[in-house]
Amino acid sequence: MRKAFFTICMFLAACYVQAAKNDVSQLTLEEKIGQMMQLVTDIFGTNDAEGVFHIDKAKADTLFSKYKIGSILNAPNTCAPTALQWEEIISDIQRLSLKYIGIPCVFGLDQNHGSTYTQGGTLFPQNINVAATFNRDIARQSAEATAYETRAVSVPWTFSPTIDLGRDARWPRIYENFGEDCYLNAEMGRMQTIGFQGEVETAFNTPAIDQHHVAVSLKHYMGYGTPWTGKDRTPAYIAPSQLREKHFAPFLAAIREGAASIMVNSASVNGLPVHANRELLTTWLKEETGWDGVLITDWADINNLYTRECVARDKKDALRIAINAGIDMIMEPYSVDACVLLKELVEEGKIPMSRIDDAVSRILRMKMRLGLYEHPTQHLKDYPKFGGKEFAQLALDGAVESMVLLKNENSILPLTKDKKILVTGPNANQMRCLNGGWSYTWQGHRTDEFAGQYNTIYEAICNEFGQENVKLCQGVTYDEKGKYWEENQPDIDAAVQAAAAVDVVVACIGENSYTETPGNLTDLTLSDNQRNLVKALSKTGKPIVLILNEGRPRIISDIVPLGQAIVDILLPGNYGGDALAGLLSGRYNFSGRLPYTYPSEINSLTNYDFKKSEESATMEGAYDYNARITQQWGFGMGMSYTSFTYSNLQVDHQHFTKNDVLTISVDVTNTGNRVGKESVLLYSSDLIASMVPDGRRLRQFDKYELQPGETRKVTFRLPASDLAFVGYDGRWTLEEGEFTLAVGTQTIKVVCDQTYVWESSNK
Ligand code: BGC
Repeated sequence: MRKAFFTICMFLAACYVQAAKNDVSQLTLEEKIGQMMQLVTDIFGTNDAEGVFHIDKAKADTLFSKYKIGSILNAPNTCAPTALQWEEIISDIQRLSLKYIGIPCVFGLDQNHGSTYTQGGTLFPQNINVAATFNRDIARQSAEATAYETRAVSVPWTFSPTIDLGRDARWPRIYENFGEDCYLNAEMGRMQTIGFQGEVETAFNTPAIDQHHVAVSLKHYMGYGTPWTGKDRTPAYIAPSQLREKHFAPFLAAIREGAASIMVNSASVNGLPVHANRELLTTWLKEETGWDGVLITDWADINNLYTRECVARDKKDALRIAINAGIDMIMEPYSVDACVLLKELVEEGKIPMSRIDDAVSRILRMKMRLGLYEHPTQHLKDYPKFGGKEFAQLALDGAVESMVLLKNENSILPLTKDKKILVTGPNANQMRCLNGGWSYTWQGHRTDEFAGQYNTIYEAICNEFGQENVKLCQGVTYDEKGKYWEENQPDIDAAVQAAAAVDVVVACIGENSYTETPGNLTDLTLSDNQRNLVKALSKTGKPIVLILNEGRPRIISDIVPLGQAIVDILLPGNYGGDALAGLLSGRYNFSGRLPYTYPSEINSLTNYDFKKSEESATMEGAYDYNARITQQWGFGMGMSYTSFTYSNLQVDHQHFTKNDVLTISVDVTNTGNRVGKESVLLYSSDLIASMVPDGRRLRQFDKYELQPGETRKVTFRLPASDLAFVGYDGRWTLEEGEFTLAVGTQTIKVVCDQTYVWESSNK
């Protein structure tokens, strides 16, 4: 009935709409400014008596007819509606947008790890897990599925993938990225861009994005993941050479795949808020590359230029700075003040009309790429795979490949099916912990209301090992009504007593869900309660399997020796419990690798590519000091139930110059007795350089499945230019001299015969 009503509405609207406007020259200044505005869904409607949100005709009429608003974001009440509710909301929005403006609205949503904001959709593992798979197919396929489910509810734009480099373990958004390395972020971000938008033909073009795909918004450009204080949205200080060489790299890789839009980092880098940085926004991103996409602010960040960053006098001043710096769309999100102020700024000549026209052309181009003029909405019935088995299998596969086995003393894992198991710890029986933030709600705090049909770790272990063999006693629980880190009064004794009757303890520890500023913390060390639980359980003498379920690596150095096995499952999503249970029983094999450095002490937060000079050996005599980088587990660490050996590393160019492509091969053999997948990682080290060289850098990776006894020759083709670095003068430089290439246990030396410095800013 409701559906028929909407079809009629759409038909009537079509009769009354203005002629479609897809050219900036057809628009008045007010219409142009409206296109640059993005407001939040909530102010377009109201909740009914049951709490269900509907577009309110009076409110929406004004916003569209008077202010010509071009874009809307967010799920109503920041909580996932059903797919059919989306159909109603977006149909209403598009009808009014076409009626009053003649331009379809572009609706954007944070579909960060699958259908974040649609009930019944598929939630995949978070990006940190995707990175841990080191499997490009998983990155691409999960993005493709997410695009499909997002378009199925008529939303054409996702604010993902997140490709900041998560280089500070304290930062609350570590899990939203693909880890600390720029190449891994670039590769996974590139694959997700292709998955979300569909294949593009050439670099920097603007091909159509079809009805099964959505536009991406890469985020958050750039330097967001290295805050000086470790806290969200606080300043970063990053050497300009590192900005270009590492932080820019993933964005460049993804825009070369045709990324339709980019969201800007909320915070400041080197003293200038990125939203005010013309050099980064316009020179680097648009002028040097020719990128023609849309640059959108993050949440209220033009306001933050005067309220928080203190680089603008007032809102009007902030708008002048940001729009002139290169911002195209303003995520306002609650007020229409900017429409009035922006108009004044143009009329006063403080923002040139050419800048407005450029911004609006970019926005209209994205709307056209998405086919919104012809297809402003879709119908769920045309998307039969929504929330179905195919995507569930993908999510399960991703979870299985992402879990990282960090320790397995005396091969305690896999557990045989006859084992009596105690499942304990605060993360043992909650879907919320498995999914993390951006799951049905922003903070992911209501996940258990929506994900009841999926298995928690405890439920999945019962399914795998038999309910009669499994006991649940958590000992420590989170206060689900409090802040994400708050725990209830623990009952560790109960867990200790429960351990008496079992053969093995599976202790599920870590974090509850959070994101952004609410996820800030004061101490990276895991809570006393959780560590005390593990310490008390270890006194029982029962072997402990520690399961780490956390959005960032929490320090646990004092309990690491107490776990006979340790598995980091990160944030594996709705199928995470099933994946873990299958891995614990040996039905699946482990193949994940850590995408970041796991710290063991707070004064040694580092990344894998640290400089040699960051470590110094103890000197002789009175100078009895040293500086050591300590790590709990290194980047790339990850064990398997089988074993792999590497041999016969070869390279076709012992000597090379800038235009050469090095073909590197190595034999990888499965020397164990189980089938297994191995991610093969190629690192390089520049031994002497004019800038202190990184100790090592990841240059390539690939993942292969090998049968027991099977040997595979793995070949990488490495352009010599990939061995260049950005010098102190900001220019890409490949210097003559020796390099080491390393794969597994094998290393080989190669020599660059001639120094080359690039003329252009990008290679
Ligand atoms: C976050 C972004 C997100 C935006 C819209 C901001 O607070 O930083 O990652 O895309 O909100 O929800």
